[in-house]
Amino acid sequence: MGSDLSAVRAWIDQAERVTVLTGAGISTDSGIPDFRGPQGVWTKNPAAEKTATLQHYLSDPEVRKQAWQNRLHSPAWTAQPNAGHRALVHLEQRGKLHALVTQNIDELHQIAGSDPARVIEIHGTMRHVVCWSCGERAPMEKALERVRAGEEDPACRTCGGILKSATISFGQNLNQADLMRAEAAATACDVLLAVGSSLTVYPAAGLVPLAKQSGARVVIVNAEPTPFDGLADAVVNAPIADVLPALLADGGGSPAAPVHDV
Ligand code: NAD
Repeated sequence: MGSDLSAVRAWIDQAERVTVLTGAGISTDSGIPDFRGPQGVWTKNPAAEKTATLQHYLSDPEVRKQAWQNRLHSPAWTAQPNAGHRALVHLEQRGKLHALVTQNIDELHQIAGSDPARVIEIHGTMRHVVCWSCGERAPMEKALERVRAGEEDPACRTCGGILKSATISFGQNLNQADLMRAEAAATACDVLLAVGSSLTVYPAAGLVPLAKQSGARVVIVNAEPTPFDGLADAVVNAPIADVLPALLADGGGSPAAPVHDV
């Protein structure tokens, strides 16, 4: 379904509380590949999924060594926010952003200028490490320095435990406080805007039907179909960095661009 962008803009203009759910697709224009899109990391190399699966990470030193190499060479360290991230900062400046729930671990929303207090990182952050045994947290850069110096799988300096990025791997429970905040934000909004997510990873994807059941309008912006397109009030199949600025511009601003299915 292609949707009339001006109708979506009117819903945003009327809304007092917009909750946004972002996924990896908002950061592809910043040079960070997603997992499941056409150029996704897992689309190209399905075996790469192992490094993001807790059970494999904890049990297999070879998986950890690969994960450290992936972290070392991640495009995220030099990535800059794009027009999609900035459009969400603008929405916040308009006083309409209730919460920004992100599945992303790159912190580009905060770097773009989104208020960290409104950003809920339900899958954690790649910019810190945490010890799986003692729970100690430290900046990722400190651990990467050790990898550059030759340690293939640096261990916790306090207790010798396994270090892992402070992200939520597959098979790992979400932080319950973050999940509760995200669910409350989905329940309390007038519009739920899901941007750049395949909406296949739970419980994050469950925020979409939760918002709908709670009376919100649901708008999905994504290049490809999602399992929730049928439930949405509007589906915008267009490049995020092009369409989000037009969608979230002030009500009296420039005329809406036409939306094309991609
Ligand atoms: P996903 O890879 O499952 O889906 C991304 C979706 O975005 C795809 O459907 C793709 O078609 C769409 N997309 C990509 N670029 C787009 C663009 N420019 N315009 C419009 N649509 C675009 O991503 P997900 O649903 O977020 O799930 C992946 C998980 O992996 C997340 O939970 C996240 O934690 C993690 N991840 C994070 C990052 C990051 O932080 N940048 C990157 C990769 C994966």
